[in-house]
Amino acid sequence: MPLLARMLPAPLTMEVRRGAVAELGALLSDSRVATSGRVAVAVGRGQGDHIESLIAPQLGEAEVFRVADGSVDAAVSLGADLRKAAYEVVVGVGGGKTIDVTKYAASLAGIPMVAVATNLSHDGICSPTASLVYEGGKGSFGVPMPLAILVDLDFVHNAPESLVRAGVGDVVSNLSAIDDWQLGNVERGEPIDGLACSMSRTAAEALIGRGDSIESDAFLTVLAESLILSGMSMVIAGSSRPASGGDHEILHAVDQLFPGTSNHGELAGIGAAFCFFLREDEARVTQVVDCLRRHKLPVVPADIGLTGQQFAEAVALAPATRPGRYTILEHLRMQDSEIHDRVGDYVRAFGS
Ligand SMILES: [Zn+2]
Repeated sequence: MPLLARMLPAPLTMEVRRGAVAELGALLSDSRVATSGRVAVAVGRGQGDHIESLIAPQLGEAEVFRVADGSVDAAVSLGADLRKAAYEVVVGVGGGKTIDVTKYAASLAGIPMVAVATNLSHDGICSPTASLVYEGGKGSFGVPMPLAILVDLDFVHNAPESLVRAGVGDVVSNLSAIDDWQLGNVERGEPIDGLACSMSRTAAEALIGRGDSIESDAFLTVLAESLILSGMSMVIAGSSRPASGGDHEILHAVDQLFPGTSNHGELAGIGAAFCFFLREDEARVTQVVDCLRRHKLPVVPADIGLTGQQFAEAVALAPATRPGRYTILEHLRMQDSEIHDRVGDYVRAFGS
């Protein structure tokens, strides 16, 4: 009999709640995660002491490593440490950087990884890629999905507000990415994965109309779930396509031309709003802009300290950041003067 379903990779455990870090020991004693108890824990520099004090009583035997920064070097060095002592599993506790470094280090050491997220700035918690800094810039490295995912809302409440709000921008940009994928399907015959689309879209739709924001546990729970679903949609698709379109091309171009301008999620949100503006999808652009404003996220270039001209330069460079990906930007093939005019129109329409 033919196989009438496809098997999907998924983490063994996913929990979003307060106090998750304090109960990490119980998760790790689950025999599916660690059988002999040789556990390594990687923490960032910022909140490493606090995290260590919470987990030390539960994980007496575990060795704690400090992750210096979000670089490839830090990941390679952690990977070497993990290999030396034959750990069974490594737990990465922290924000995006620490989790990405731990993901890559675990893949180098050939051991599974548990992700414990303490903020919600982007959909890398569960994605099959690690975004790391190297001498020439920033790169995306393919890694296995985490074995288990925990999000500790106590930590998220204490994380810098802007980093938590940023996650909203990254989730909302899924809607633009899916439109781009569908465009690629229609215009170029690119295969599209309906299941990956539905997960990525559902994640964004669950969030975009909510009236509450990051002070509410209910909102943070949906935000965390949406970010995890986005990550899983990319695993299922086998690429970042369901959560990264012209919006993320603009983001990467801003990062290249004007490093340090803003964070990933904030730029993804602006990129998505601008792409819907280019598509002349009035309903969606209004909905996305309203959502960004409700969560105090930037909407126009001036909100992130860029001039219209600088933003237009980034839009012009954007297609080159992801060769081969067909989005509204590649579709329109605008000349510089046209980009300049459209950015001007966008700022006039949505600048405050
Ligand atoms: Zn993203």
